[in-house]
Amino acid sequence: LSVTDDKDARIWERIKDHPCFSEQAHHYFARMHVAVAPACNIQCNYCNRKYDCTNESRPGVASVKLTPDQALRKVLAVASKVPELSVIGVAGPGDACYDWRKTVATFEGVAREIPDIKLCISTNGLALPDHVDELADMNIDHVTITINMVDPVVGAKIYPWILHGHRRYTGIEAARILHERQMLGLELLTKRGILTKINSVMIPGVNDTHLVEVNRWIRDRGAFMHNVVPLISKPSHGTYYGLTGQRCPEPFELKALQDCLDGNVKLMRHCQQCRADAIGLLGDDREREFALDQISTKV
Ligand code: SF4
Ligand code: SF4
Repeated sequence: LSVTDDKDARIWERIKDHPCFSEQAHHYFARMHVAVAPACNIQCNYCNRKYDCTNESRPGVASVKLTPDQALRKVLAVASKVPELSVIGVAGPGDACYDWRKTVATFEGVAREIPDIKLCISTNGLALPDHVDELADMNIDHVTITINMVDPVVGAKIYPWILHGHRRYTGIEAARILHERQMLGLELLTKRGILTKINSVMIPGVNDTHLVEVNRWIRDRGAFMHNVVPLISKPSHGTYYGLTGQRCPEPFELKALQDCLDGNVKLMRHCQQCRADAIGLLGDDREREFALDQISTKV
């Protein structure tokens, strides 16, 4: 991102309390993901919906899916006990833009009760272009899109199918549509001045070298930040990922890729691959303290 000092200062103002968009902020500010969006319009090979998953960098685990009302109760409970809370995000466990009504209902409630809190979403991008105007109207200033490819041949190895316009597409056609919608969504967000973070899941032997090209495409379309995260294929919370048997990258492979991307788009290196219901400072999750049955039923 090439910016003047004045522009730098304005961007800093917008990211200074967002723990993911600013590395410094993650020491002092907390985020809360509310797991209100279980439905998804694509299938990623690395995602197992049976156990929940997310567009965020971790095909995550969410203990309980929430209705928008339950989410609001939980947000208010957390806000009263976690003074560092600065961001509420919808990051699955499905897709925030596909399960749009629930995302909107949740954000409307939160914005009404806590007007100064930041709202952010995470999406696979397929339904994103349909909602950019509403995102801007809701003052959503931070959006994460998961983009794992810009070549549909690579995409066909990652996405077996998508649902788009009431039709199911498979193979290269599915990946091509997804790619076009992701690029369009990113361009529209950039035009609106909304800050974007692109998450890319590094899948050895599938898209690892290709992510250099992804990085170029997103830079050319105004992405603010690129977050390359390793595929999780080890058991976590009793759940196995990497359903088609891909291995996860070694730390040195991830670092080598990140090093060769450095200099194009700002790189995120402090991602914790959080759950879809994560609460607290990055790396210090407190979701268990705020189980729904422990929260008052009054909003
Ligand atoms: Fe799972 Fe997210 Fe992929 Fe949908 S976009 S299949 S929720 S990882
Ligand atoms: Fe931030 Fe990464 Fe966690 Fe998302 S998964 S909230 S980007 S640290």
